[in-house]
Amino acid sequence: MPFPKIAIIGAGPGGLTLARLLQQNNIPCTIYESEKDRHTRDQGGTLDLHPKAGQRALREAGLFEEFTKYARPEGDAHKLVRHDGHVLWNDNKLGANAQTPPPGEADDNKPEIDRNRLRQILLDSLQPDVVQWDRKVSRIEADPRAKTSKYTIYFADGSKEADIELVVGADGAWSKVRPLLTDATPFYSGVTGIELWATDVTEKHPWLCEYVGQGSCFMFDDGRAIMAQRNGNDSLRVYACVRQPETWADDCGIDWSDRDGAREAVIRDYFADCSDDLKRLVRESRDELIVRKMYMLPVGITWPSCPGVTLLGDAAHLMTPFAGVGVNVAMADALVLARSLIKKKDGLLAKAFSNSHNIAAAVKEYEAWMFGFAKENAEKTFKGLRLHFSPEGGPEMAQRLRGRYGEAAGMKLSEEVFGTSTKGAPDSPPAEAA
Ligand SMILES: Cc1cc2nc3c(=O)[nH]c(=O)nc-3n(C[C@H](O)[C@H](O)[C@H](O)COP(=O)(O)OP(=O)(O)OC[C@H]3O[C@@H](n4cnc5c(N)ncnc54)[C@H](O)[C@@H]3O)c2cc1C
Repeated sequence: MPFPKIAIIGAGPGGLTLARLLQQNNIPCTIYESEKDRHTRDQGGTLDLHPKAGQRALREAGLFEEFTKYARPEGDAHKLVRHDGHVLWNDNKLGANAQTPPPGEADDNKPEIDRNRLRQILLDSLQPDVVQWDRKVSRIEADPRAKTSKYTIYFADGSKEADIELVVGADGAWSKVRPLLTDATPFYSGVTGIELWATDVTEKHPWLCEYVGQGSCFMFDDGRAIMAQRNGNDSLRVYACVRQPETWADDCGIDWSDRDGAREAVIRDYFADCSDDLKRLVRESRDELIVRKMYMLPVGITWPSCPGVTLLGDAAHLMTPFAGVGVNVAMADALVLARSLIKKKDGLLAKAFSNSHNIAAAVKEYEAWMFGFAKENAEKTFKGLRLHFSPEGGPEMAQRLRGRYGEAAGMKLSEEVFGTSTKGAPDSPPAEAA
């Protein structure tokens, strides 16, 4: 039997991981990607890959060694501050004790990797013609004449690809594949983030480096948050987030094209009572400004399985970034879907059935797992969304980190690590952080 025609829409981490895993098992596929080439768009900040999700997918894809070359375990450091600058936690100060072990199976082993680097590793692992760039999908239709389920993909440039036996929508938040399966569309999460960049930080912004530390620095408060993260390319990203209506960025009166003025307006109107250091963090990150409205799909979304079409990653279960799990779930989806397809291809009974029967069975098996895993992570993310925008968020995270680094390692934690007071903050840690 010839191989079924498999189309993956989207060359994000999910789609690329799936293609690599299929290629490893001699199952051909094509990725259709809307971007013009691999350099078109900066892929965003840094991602932490979890041992049982992103890291496991890379292991099975034979790319784990490559990943460890670029992974930044030190990027997993955390600093938590209250709006008034009081430091709730700072594991940059753990010194030698902060050495996170190299990537491995321990649950708390989550080294960071830059998105651009992760994408490059995956792209370089694929045969040259697997990714077709500049192929923006506009719609997909089931072929009514086909005896078994076949699909035609229509592209924005007027071209089309017919007789596709499996369409995998890995095309992110605004998926063009999703309407084949469900009427659900992303809705506004209530949060808008102002993404700010600082580049060449070692030379140009030593204060930012010192203040943020090696990894992330967070301030969570009622209806607002500041999140900063170091990136591998000597840059730093800051997200000044506010809980505001969907139209806020358009009608709040801030001129986003005037970056300097916009940053000052955000500080003045939403973070005026924050510590001088937090204001400086926002003020000094002046190399780029992007307004990001954050969307999500319903927690626990499912659909009746449909032969020959499925979704993975954000296309299937878009979440806000407030638990840092999106890419991990996308890569775990790719792994489980690949395993199901490989099993149906190589299984003892596979040859007795048609391709379409085997694909339908693989999709069903994958979705049964994916719906549960996505729900678990979407619930965790929703909890993260609530905590990140409440004053309890910082102490709650400090408590978790204390368990991870402190009690777990049998260390005696000092004032250096948590409860350090800064200018204008109380001298002793608040009860909930101690
Ligand atoms: C600000 C922010 C911070 C985040 N931080 C983290 C984090 O720390 N950890 C974490 O795990 N997750 C994080 N996430 C979530 C993570 O980025 C996503 O969950 C992950 O990228 C999903 O991967 P994906 O492959 O499913 O989709 P995407 O990465 O969205 O890739 C989709 C691909 O499909 C292509 N495409 C879209 N439409 C079409 C079309 N019509 N035709 C052809 N191609 C198309 C796109 O160009 C893109 O290449 C964050 C998200 C945001 C917004």
